[in-house]
Amino acid sequence: MVLPIYIYGQPVLRQISQDIDITDKEAIQALTQDMYDTLKHSGGVGLAAPQIGKAIRVVVIDLDIISDDLPEYKGFHHAFYNPHIIETSEETETLSEGCLSLPGISEDVTRPNRIRVTYYDDDFIYHDEWVEGYLARVMQHEFDHLEGHVFIDRISPFRRKMNFSKINNFLKGKARCSYKVKTIKKK
Ligand code: ZN
Repeated sequence: MVLPIYIYGQPVLRQISQDIDITDKEAIQALTQDMYDTLKHSGGVGLAAPQIGKAIRVVVIDLDIISDDLPEYKGFHHAFYNPHIIETSEETETLSEGCLSLPGISEDVTRPNRIRVTYYDDDFIYHDEWVEGYLARVMQHEFDHLEGHVFIDRISPFRRKMNFSKINNFLKGKARCSYKVKTIKKK
């Protein structure tokens, strides 16, 4: 089932997400399927549960849609339960990011290029591993959502201010996007 995506300004995007009970497999799988459906419908590469209004630690990532450019991600379609970043590399890189909760905005963001993460996978198997490359980038963006952060928190105050006008136009209904959304009303 495709769910509406919560847009910047919704309080849930500022909450710290809680770990889920990993033994509740049926409920988790049903939620995950809805998140995959929603991600596919919106054309994004990742979706975190706060973006569908739930402050819990569930993320889905689909890199298959960029596998024409990055063939190593052909068929990459995974869920991450209770993910936590426990270490990061000192080396960083700067890449352009966008977010389904901030339609129409993209900005360069600097982040560590390697991260050590713990999580449960689609089959509820626990992992503790270092991740690099584009996946590390997407994970950091999505896992930020679980800490109540969005990517424009990581850009300069000047650039952030420039982007607020774009967001306000969207909230006032002056701009649209192609997927279902849930916004706070702005006058
Ligand atoms: Zn996002």
